[in-house]
Amino acid sequence: MRLLAVKWMRTLTVCIMCSLLLSLLIAFVPINNSQYLCAKQSATSKPLFTAGTGFDRHESGHKLAVIVPFRDRFDELLLFVPHLDAFLNRQNVSHKIYIINQSDNLRFNRASLINVGYLLVNNDCDYIAMHDVDLLPLNAQLSYAYPANGPFHIASPELHPKYHYKTFVGGILLVTNEHFEKVDGMSNRYWGWGLEDDEFYARLKEAQLTVNRPHNLSTGINDTFLHLHDRFPRKRDYAKLYNQREVTRRRDRETGLHNVRYELIGKKRLTIEDSECVVYSVRLVCDVRSTPWCQPKTGGATSKQQQQKSSSTRKKKKAGA
Ligand code: UDP
Ligand code: MN
Repeated sequence: MRLLAVKWMRTLTVCIMCSLLLSLLIAFVPINNSQYLCAKQSATSKPLFTAGTGFDRHESGHKLAVIVPFRDRFDELLLFVPHLDAFLNRQNVSHKIYIINQSDNLRFNRASLINVGYLLVNNDCDYIAMHDVDLLPLNAQLSYAYPANGPFHIASPELHPKYHYKTFVGGILLVTNEHFEKVDGMSNRYWGWGLEDDEFYARLKEAQLTVNRPHNLSTGINDTFLHLHDRFPRKRDYAKLYNQREVTRRRDRETGLHNVRYELIGKKRLTIEDSECVVYSVRLVCDVRSTPWCQPKTGGATSKQQQQKSSSTRKKKKAGA
């Protein structure tokens, strides 16, 4: 019994000595500081983009409204909304997508729809993207960040698959609310295809706003965007009616954001593959005295010519009967 007690005492002493030695070791061996910092950094670092885009994962506090002028491009819309939503989420750009659907019988008016879109949503954003529905950004280096230094033309002529002139600002353009209001938005005189973006460029230039563009991208005109546009089902309305050609070549100092006329006929929320957008349906109002070309030509003639033609046919028919 005595022998057992001595053995037990010995084991206890050895244990106490060991734990004392261990505590001394922990107290005096220095912690590897750099390893500790590395572990801490990797928890808060930015592994989101690999292409060296410099995007910040942290919220910038800015809010982007993507304004899409729209009519009869449903197939493109189905691809556009999920694609752009995911693209902007990867950049941590706080955004909302608004489709401005032209629901009247007038010719398409891209610029007026952008003005209307701006009036409807500007309380919820501090910058906008005027965005074609058929142009999908493919290169993650295309930044949709707040364009503090002046409008940022994402669909640059060096990257757009179709338009390559120096002053081109169509397709996709970022503008702050402040700058959009400064130039009174876009002209309302452009019914049918084209030139409204060139007139907007004249406004920016006159206001001495510099247009900035993406640089040093790893892609070019063939692989920066996907242009979902087949010109046969999606014919461009090139018609120049009345004195449209002459008027639309000039800088417009009378119309813009302050006097765009429209009627809001509906607002719907749409979810496409978990990505949300808001569809505003609007009827634009046209002053036919100042822009008679807002009405579509019927059967190859202008509406006035068409009216004259049909009344003379009626007369002929009557005479023949
Ligand atoms: N658009 C539309 N419906 C039309 C015409 C144009 O929705 O009937 C919109 C759409 O967002 C389109 C943009 O206006 O991407 C520019 O028109 P389009 O693609 O015809 O011009 P492009 O830049 O290809 O010459
Ligand atoms: Mn197009």
